[in-house]
Amino acid sequence: MRVADLHADVICKMLEHPGSKWGSADSAERFDVTPDRLQQGGIELQVFPIFLPDTIPGDPESLFRAAELFWSEILTVKGMKLIRRAGDIELALQEGKIAALLSLEGVEGLRGNMWALRLLYRLGLRLLGPTWNHANWACDGALEPRGAGFTKAGRQLVTECESLGILIDVSHLSDRGFWDLAECAGRPFFASHSNARSIKDHPRNLTDAQIQAIISAQGIIGLTFVPWFVIAPEPATIDDVLRHVEHVCALGGAEHIAFGSDFDGISRHVQGLEHPGKYPDLAEALLRRYPEQLVKGFLGETAIRFLTKNLPN
Ligand SMILES: [Zn+2]
Repeated sequence: MRVADLHADVICKMLEHPGSKWGSADSAERFDVTPDRLQQGGIELQVFPIFLPDTIPGDPESLFRAAELFWSEILTVKGMKLIRRAGDIELALQEGKIAALLSLEGVEGLRGNMWALRLLYRLGLRLLGPTWNHANWACDGALEPRGAGFTKAGRQLVTECESLGILIDVSHLSDRGFWDLAECAGRPFFASHSNARSIKDHPRNLTDAQIQAIISAQGIIGLTFVPWFVIAPEPATIDDVLRHVEHVCALGGAEHIAFGSDFDGISRHVQGLEHPGKYPDLAEALLRRYPEQLVKGFLGETAIRFLTKNLPN
């Protein structure tokens, strides 16, 4: 079954551990996501966000160093194919390659420079979450106590992204930021790695109204395997993840469900979902509850359709 994963922090881990080789034989010791596990899990599309950890200066130079790692350490691995245009996805699938997309999580490092955004676009950037959890020059993040929305510069960023063909990811936005985006967005937007707040109350999860707004905007919701966004107390199991699937379905979102694991960005895992090689187990659990056609959608086809429809030609 085709699997698409909208968020895994391989680049961040490489930034935290300079010199670590993602494609090397021992990469499973450091990374959740490895080329072998992507194959094992049947992943056909993987999003690789740039997220700058605290230890690295938040400036354009760091962003370009991170983009360079994407090119030199990920795209050089046999079987990976960079996705820049909508049609590249179908080509990758036909060639039996893994479609690799570059995204940005938090725009701190741009420091408001649209030239840096445009240059990252030329390097393949196609998805962008304006914030991580804190406030920055564009917007407030989900854990910022002030809870403000977009700044004027942040709205200009959204406009620039939309004109370039970069899709906006709402996963880390504050609630106010989410609604500002919903109001000003001219294009479909999506959540790369968030769950349903009605099932697990956490500011990183989406309220029912937000889920419905994403559905109305023809967007998608990448449900995530971050255990503390799935259930409390932990441990979280695959069945607990399915409760979020069920909830989004109940809100009329069955055609809008995808997954964004957050592998390599988390210190604990859902039991049975420790790395992408475990996706077949999730598929099996889904198939026990849902028709095959729907499960195919959840696991990959919905995300692939969304990206094929909304990436630039
Ligand atoms: Zn994140």
